[in-house]
Amino acid sequence: MATFYVFLGAPGVGKGTQAKLLCATLKLPHISSGDIFRENISRATKLGKLADDYISRGELVPDRITNAMIRERLGREDCSKGAILDGFPRTEGQAEALEKCLVELGGRIVAVFLIEVPDEVLLERLCGRWMCRAQGHIYHEKHHPPLQPGICDIDGSELYQREDDKAETVARRIHVYMEETAPLIEYFERQGLLRHVNGNQDVNTVANQIFKAIGERVS
Ligand code: AMP
Repeated sequence: MATFYVFLGAPGVGKGTQAKLLCATLKLPHISSGDIFRENISRATKLGKLADDYISRGELVPDRITNAMIRERLGREDCSKGAILDGFPRTEGQAEALEKCLVELGGRIVAVFLIEVPDEVLLERLCGRWMCRAQGHIYHEKHHPPLQPGICDIDGSELYQREDDKAETVARRIHVYMEETAPLIEYFERQGLLRHVNGNQDVNTVANQIFKAIGERVS
């Protein structure tokens, strides 16, 4: 049966970083709803045009659009053994849609990692965050600066600051998380899937906590 892992947590807790590390270990694809939207916006597709306004306001893209996008993505061949979901689901409607979709695909959620960090740390992390254009590698001007300013260490592409990482939009995104996504904590707790992860530690310590929770040996 295909196995799916979900990363849950407020913007800036490190979901993307940890999801990528787990993908490398489990050899499963990384499905980030935010990355798929950004890629569509940069290619000016129909989906990108639909999502752009919501994203720049720091609001959620409506479930109807997001669910259809994820259903299509999870139906592709590379997800036949499962996937790591980063940033999806973000509402109860999305969680229910995911459940249905996994029944159709013959998969199940194995664990939901809730990464937690104090609010003041979130703000600081998001406002200093830089991303690479090619593959979304993440840097921080204070905690993880690139070797050469403005250039990704890994693929040499340009680094940029996300439009929605500006202070005002960040505050909105955190508010939206509390209102719409935080109820999922109870939802997954009821299903016995939730694993609490302390995200206020260095990247490797957080990763080790996650690997331990799923019984993977740390490499
Ligand atoms: P992220 O990269 O996960 O922080 O997502 C960036 C933005 O994309 C969010 O602030 C939302 O506007 C949108 N987005 C990403 N994932 C979802 C989702 N599951 N549901 C609705 N909107 C989403």
